[in-house]
Amino acid sequence: MLVYKTKVDLVDRINNLMQPDFSLGFVPTMGALHQGHLSLVKSALANNNFVVVSVFVNPTQFNSSSDLNKYPRSLAKDIKALETVSKDSILIYAPEVEDLYGSKIKSESFNFMGIESLMEGNSRPGHFNGVGTIVKRLLQIVNPNKAYFGEKDFQQLLIIKKMVEQEGLEVKIVGCPIEREPNGLAMSSRNGRLSPKEFHESAMIYEILQTVKQKFSSEDIASTCDWVLRRFNNNPLFELDYFQISDIESLMPIKEKIPNKKYRAFIAAYIGDVRLIDNIDLN
Ligand code: AMP
Repeated sequence: MLVYKTKVDLVDRINNLMQPDFSLGFVPTMGALHQGHLSLVKSALANNNFVVVSVFVNPTQFNSSSDLNKYPRSLAKDIKALETVSKDSILIYAPEVEDLYGSKIKSESFNFMGIESLMEGNSRPGHFNGVGTIVKRLLQIVNPNKAYFGEKDFQQLLIIKKMVEQEGLEVKIVGCPIEREPNGLAMSSRNGRLSPKEFHESAMIYEILQTVKQKFSSEDIASTCDWVLRRFNNNPLFELDYFQISDIESLMPIKEKIPNKKYRAFIAAYIGDVRLIDNIDLN
């Protein structure tokens, strides 16, 4: 499988491949690919003639250089994983930082109507400006018909939809369901850092979300939130960062349900020094 290191080579190849009625899919990733990423690639392949998968650890979305340096990089393994899905319909774009940022590694500023400072943005100022910057740049280079993002990062998915609308980009953003380990834990490149015991215990996160979904139809929000806090307090392996039930448009936490609105429950928790996130649709 060919790997394109520069945007010039990638665009040249895309222009050669594409026919007037062809559709191009795009899956942006930071590499360290697992079945969650591959599920996006499979969805993209099912609905497009060719799929570009980018593998790029984006410096502007990290708050600390040590996190950026620690991020796993495994391009050779990622290529092998993608080859198991398709050998001839995937183009891998794995550039160096300069190809996307030139000499200025800096984010653009977006207005995401406050969504950027909730949940994942609360402890990571500027994170979503970094995400918006890189996804906008990648979409402008690849110019796909459809781009695929995981609901695992539901807040990111919403922010990207907003950015695409604000910037007037002509691409359909497709949200894809969360792929899970057999014990229910949402797949993540961080799961490899869990000890066998931590991995086993982490099943609790999805168990809690499933119970929250059951409780949502019959109990009030405050008592459900109390129940979640108690579950985490009773397990010394975990430290809860946040739990909230939010309206899926504003992501603001709610105290009461409003008919015809849609909601999702979100959890972020530490087990040891590994931070795990997950969410579930409540409607
Ligand atoms: P990342 O490499 O972590 O930036 O993720 C690249 C894309 O894969 C994002 O759109 C993520 O939401 C998506 N993704 C990550 N984990 C999963 C998963 N378990 N299920 C579905 N999509 C995922």
